[in-house]
Amino acid sequence: MKYTIAIDLGGTFIKIGLLKEGHLVDRNEIRAQSSSGLKSQLSELETVVNQLLLTNEVLKADVLGIGFSFAGLVDSVQNRILSTNQKYDDGPETDLVGWANEKWNWPLYAMNDARMALLGEWQHGEWQRFSDLVLVTLGTGIGSAVLVGGKLLIGKHFQAGNLGGHFVVNHKGSVCTCGNIGCVEAEASTWRLPSLLKEHLEFSGSSMKNEDILDFKALFNHAGNDDQVAKEVLEHCFSVWSAGIISMIHAFDPEKIILSGGIMKSSSVILPALQEKVNELAWTPWGKVKLVEAKFPDSAALYGADYLVRSSVAI
Ligand SMILES: [Zn+2]
Repeated sequence: MKYTIAIDLGGTFIKIGLLKEGHLVDRNEIRAQSSSGLKSQLSELETVVNQLLLTNEVLKADVLGIGFSFAGLVDSVQNRILSTNQKYDDGPETDLVGWANEKWNWPLYAMNDARMALLGEWQHGEWQRFSDLVLVTLGTGIGSAVLVGGKLLIGKHFQAGNLGGHFVVNHKGSVCTCGNIGCVEAEASTWRLPSLLKEHLEFSGSSMKNEDILDFKALFNHAGNDDQVAKEVLEHCFSVWSAGIISMIHAFDPEKIILSGGIMKSSSVILPALQEKVNELAWTPWGKVKLVEAKFPDSAALYGADYLVRSSVAI
């Protein structure tokens, strides 16, 4: 029975898991220093990995390899980071394969984090019998990944299906961090929300003006308490997200859309609102695309990394 190591590099936390045959045996978490780069965190990662081995009495030789999940564009053939967006900006110059080989003599398989989470949700959850899925993460930014005919959509330059958050929903809209204009995440995401609220003409009369942190948790609270500005901004966000999701449905023809990410903590409000818009507006003569909540929002990328290593080593 062989183990795998899964590393999920998020913007705020780095999750490190020890898995065995698809089961999470142990995990640890360290605070991410994403603005100071990736190379400077490798020695801390090495320590956590070694601790996991020691605590669980696992030998180096019993580990098949590392699955490395990264929030950016990743070349999953050469297993290197291609492009970042304001986090771990030295990623493309960091030799992850060389690092894993030098420290433990293990292979390392790198993949974009949304793809990794989709692999995890698909293989570990109840969606295994489906072959065509889209995963959308609603959070600080908006990410996506696509499974077509039982295979991850990758593309010539490793970016196919990953840029759902950068589908244009308003060509006269706001400037995005990617350089484009009116992307889904430039119109409605955690990073965009504070300015979205402050730009509302009635903001000074809103109960939200007293909030120190203008995040979605606050927005859902105030909208639930009937604040008109919060309700209008929330409705705007639902329209933006459903427009993005409908474009993804038209582009990728999925059976289901899996929604994940921090904003989905309010899934009981989000899911029915988006489902209604999708039912009304998407062109799917065969039926309706069901929107579902991710089963493992906290650990799907770790399960995906384990699956990726096991399936890569088996080849
Ligand atoms: Zn963009």
